[in-house]
Amino acid sequence: MTEVLTEVLTPMDVAGRPARLRARLREAGLPALLVTRLPNVRYLTGFSGSAAMLLVTADDLLLVTDGRYQTQALEQLRAAGVDARVEIGLTSADQHRILAGALGPRGPLGLEAQGVTWAEQRTLAGVFADVELIPTESHVEELRCIKDAGEVARIRAACAIADAALAEMLPSLGDHPTERDFAVELEHSMRRGGASAMSFDPIVASGPNGAKPHARPSERAIGEGELVVIDFGCIVDGYCSDMTRTVSVGDPGPDGRRLWDLVAASQRAGRDAVRPGVACAAVDRASRHVIEEAGLGDAFVHGTGHGVGLEIHEAPRVARTAPGTLGVGTVVTVEPGVYLPGVGGVRIEDTVVVTEDGAEALTEFPKSLVVAPS
Ligand code: ZN
Ligand code: ZN
Repeated sequence: MTEVLTEVLTPMDVAGRPARLRARLREAGLPALLVTRLPNVRYLTGFSGSAAMLLVTADDLLLVTDGRYQTQALEQLRAAGVDARVEIGLTSADQHRILAGALGPRGPLGLEAQGVTWAEQRTLAGVFADVELIPTESHVEELRCIKDAGEVARIRAACAIADAALAEMLPSLGDHPTERDFAVELEHSMRRGGASAMSFDPIVASGPNGAKPHARPSERAIGEGELVVIDFGCIVDGYCSDMTRTVSVGDPGPDGRRLWDLVAASQRAGRDAVRPGVACAAVDRASRHVIEEAGLGDAFVHGTGHGVGLEIHEAPRVARTAPGTLGVGTVVTVEPGVYLPGVGGVRIEDTVVVTEDGAEALTEFPKSLVVAPS
């Protein structure tokens, strides 16, 4: 079903990406970059395997992978229309020899500092003994911040599958399932809907468990009148969705309603602040202000949001100290929350895309607190 889905999705401009990276590298005075973070390799080539390195120079694009991926690499690069060479090294020593031979004495060579371990850096220093190695940050990640229409279409499709899964499963909350059983059924529903995988393990946190922002679903049965935080998403053709709704089976009482109304107002404020050119920190401020005004600033223990794409958490961050501004095509979440230890929590999250005149929510599931008990 995923194949059927991706055939009808707007194509992505994968082939145009290496040129945009080269322009950045020229500006940075960097003749070559070794891309080792797999989401970045996928972004630049369309190759989705679990092992590869990509050498980018002014006149060469060389994907080196292992024997398992010979056919897949050629097929995916061809499908993406990417003009790159593919070479196979059966061992990592072979792969390193291929890369060093292709680069020759042309240095310095940039490494992705956020993706290379200390051990790998030491190995690569031996492999590229004749060139200077330079730590670089975010060259590809910053390109990835602006999604093309094909990328937005994939995130939108993943969001629609998640919306439909919640619509299908929410009535079953009235049967008081355990958090774990509800999470499993939600996951099944998304897979039936065409998701290739989950973007992360669903969070289903009821009652006091809701006070832990990243609680794991437990064997706790979801009770009547309890706030239930449901945070989940799935993947379509490599792209993630992310949504949180907080609901209650029946009336959660005045305290629960007040908390929910507050977070909903904070989420609206953050969502309304999203537009081209706005500082990421200003979106965080807009959401946080509402919760601080209510005296619960200390209970909002995380940033307001994050970028979503090939990774569930990617640039840009939407947080108090986040640098940068939002551009048209950036996809971020807006997800304020309030967590009261021993009591419970509320989080409400949308994934939104920045448009010319503001923002559009890709997660469309209605925000309402009360689910009718069965
Ligand atoms: Zn989430
Ligand atoms: Zn999120």
